[in-house]
Amino acid sequence: MATVRAACPDCGDVELKATGVTVVHIAHHAGPDQTLYRIRCPKCRVISLKPCDPRAAELLIGSGAGTVSVALTPDTPSPLRTDPITDDECITLHGLITPDDTTVWQLFDVVADMHGDPS
Ligand SMILES: [Zn+2]
Repeated sequence: MATVRAACPDCGDVELKATGVTVVHIAHHAGPDQTLYRIRCPKCRVISLKPCDPRAAELLIGSGAGTVSVALTPDTPSPLRTDPITDDECITLHGLITPDDTTVWQLFDVVADMHGDPS
């Protein structure tokens, strides 16, 4: 199993299995496409997403990294924003989730527990 070295914003250089890396290809409706890699740090478990040149992406994929492709339309907000989600966006998200999305509701319960929400 191939091992790769990646940079965690908190821990610095870390090593993880290539299968723990995901190459993300973003096709923009306007402007050049973008290639990034996503890791979950094996030390602190934080997920980070960083730019990746196409040659490095090929090597990662050849070593076992997963891939995700995203096509952005003019109506798609950028997935790379770093500002906090707003209350209005939370309300919009809430409206998009159906009662059958049990995994998402369980995730909300976990987050609410972490923040001491009494509900
Ligand atoms: Zn880390």
